[in-house]
Amino acid sequence: MDQEKQRRLRTLPAVHEVISRLEQEEEFSPFLTNERQLPRLTQEIRQVLQKARETINLNHTDSFAEFENSLWSWLKIQLLQELTQPQTSLRRVINGTGVVLHTNLGRALLAPEVARFVAEQAEKYSNLELNIETGERGSRYVHIEELLCQLTGAEAAMVVNNNAAAVLLMMNTFAQGKEVIVSRGELVEVGGSFRIPDVLKAGGAKLVEVGTTNKTWLRDYETAITPETAVLLKVHTSNYRVEGFTHAVSGAELVELGQTRGLPVLEDLGSGSFFDGANLGFPLEPTIQQTVKAGISLASFSGDKLLGGPQAGIIVGKKEYIQRLKQNQLTRALRVDKLALAALEGTLRLYKNGQIDEIPVWRMLSVPLEALRLAASELVLALQSNPAISVELKEDVSQVGGGAWPTVELPTWVCAIRPIQGSVIELEKFLRLGTIAILSRIHKDWVFIDVRTLLSGDGEEIVRRLGELEF
Ligand SMILES: *Cc1c(COP(=O)(O)O)cnc(C)c1O
Repeated sequence: MDQEKQRRLRTLPAVHEVISRLEQEEEFSPFLTNERQLPRLTQEIRQVLQKARETINLNHTDSFAEFENSLWSWLKIQLLQELTQPQTSLRRVINGTGVVLHTNLGRALLAPEVARFVAEQAEKYSNLELNIETGERGSRYVHIEELLCQLTGAEAAMVVNNNAAAVLLMMNTFAQGKEVIVSRGELVEVGGSFRIPDVLKAGGAKLVEVGTTNKTWLRDYETAITPETAVLLKVHTSNYRVEGFTHAVSGAELVELGQTRGLPVLEDLGSGSFFDGANLGFPLEPTIQQTVKAGISLASFSGDKLLGGPQAGIIVGKKEYIQRLKQNQLTRALRVDKLALAALEGTLRLYKNGQIDEIPVWRMLSVPLEALRLAASELVLALQSNPAISVELKEDVSQVGGGAWPTVELPTWVCAIRPIQGSVIELEKFLRLGTIAILSRIHKDWVFIDVRTLLSGDGEEIVRRLGELEF
C-alpha cells in the first residue's frame, strides 16, 4: 500500500513542469506575462501540490487511475480558484440590507468626488501642518475649522478620531476628578463598547445621575449641583426612545442653568445632523445649528453617521472651551488622521456648496419610493428567467441605522427571492460567500434584497451570482 502511495506521489509534477504546461493555457497568461505575478503563481502552485499530496496520503483515491487522469484539470481548477480569490482581508460588499448606516459594513459611504480627493491626498504630499504663506508649521485643524463654524454657526471647532474620543476628551479636560451631572434617561450604551458611565470614568470624571429613566426635570439638575460639579452633560438617546409618560430637559434650559451657576454645558449629539429631517417626514430632532444657537458650551457628533463623511469626532462650540481642548495632551493621542481629515473637508464642502444630493447617505435616505419600486422591479425582471429561484416584488421597510432616528421606518421596495431547492438560510449564505459578498435580509421564508442601499452595477452582480446557483 505504501509503495502504491509512493508511486502516486511521484506522478505529481514539479513546480517548473506545472509552469511550462500553464504556458499553453490562455487563462493563465495574465499571471505568466506579468513579472510581479510570477512569485505569487509559484507560491500558489506549491500550495496546490501540497494539497494534492495530502489527498494522496489520506488515500481517499481508491480509483487512483481516475485521479491520475483528472489530476491536471484538478490542479488547474484549484489554481484558478486561488489566483482569482481576492487577496485582501478588507473587501467590497454589496449592501442589500436596506440599512443605510450599517456599522458592520463601514457606516457612511463617501461621495465619489470626496473619495477621489482622499486618494489624491493619500498619494501626494500636502500642506497638512504647513502654512503655505509663511512656510512655517501650521495646524491640521485649520482645514476644517472655518467650514465647521460657517456651517454650524459655532465660534470654534476641532476634530478628533471619533465621537467616543470627543466625549472622552471633553470629560478629561473639564471634569477630571470632578462631578458630571447626567440624566438617568440618558445613560446611553452605543454599539456595545461605548457606555456613557464608562467613558466618564475613563476620562477621570465622577458620574452623578439625576432624575428617573422616564422623567428628569431642571430642578433635578439644580439640586444636584455641588462645589464639586464641573459639567452639566446632555446625551442624545441615539438608539432608543423612551415613550409615554416622559420629560427631558432641553438643551436651552440646561444652558440657562449652566450660565447662572457658571458651569459648562456639554452635549453628546451622537449622530448629529445639519437637517432636522422634517422634509423626509422624520420625527423632529434639534439640528447641530439649533444646539449651537441655544448657547451650548460644546457639542460633539460623529463624522460617519448622518453627516455622511469619514470616521471622526467633531466638536463645535465656544472658543474658550475649544482652546482648552486643544491644550490637553490627550488631543495628540486622539488626533484625527489626515485621510479622514481630507474626507471630512471634502464632505463639508459639499454641504457648503449645497450639493447634498451627492452625499450618499442623504441620497439613499431621500430617494423617492417610486424610484425604489422601479429599481426593485428591474431586478425582479432580470432574475425572472433564473430557474433556480422564484422572485417577487414586495413592499418592506428600510432603516437609517447607526443609531440615528431609531424609530423611523422608511417605506421601501425589495426583490424577494426563494430558492427552488434548499432553504433561505442556505441562499443567504450563498449570496454572502460569492466573489463579492452580497448581504441580504431573511424575512420569513424569503431572502430580501432592499434596493435602497444598492449602488450602480450591484444589480448585475446579484444576477450573475444567482446564475451560479445550482438546483
Ligand atoms: C454613535 C454614538 C457615539 C459614538 O460615536 P463614534 O463616532 O462611533 O465613536 C457616542 N455617543 C452617541 C450618543 C452615539 O450615538
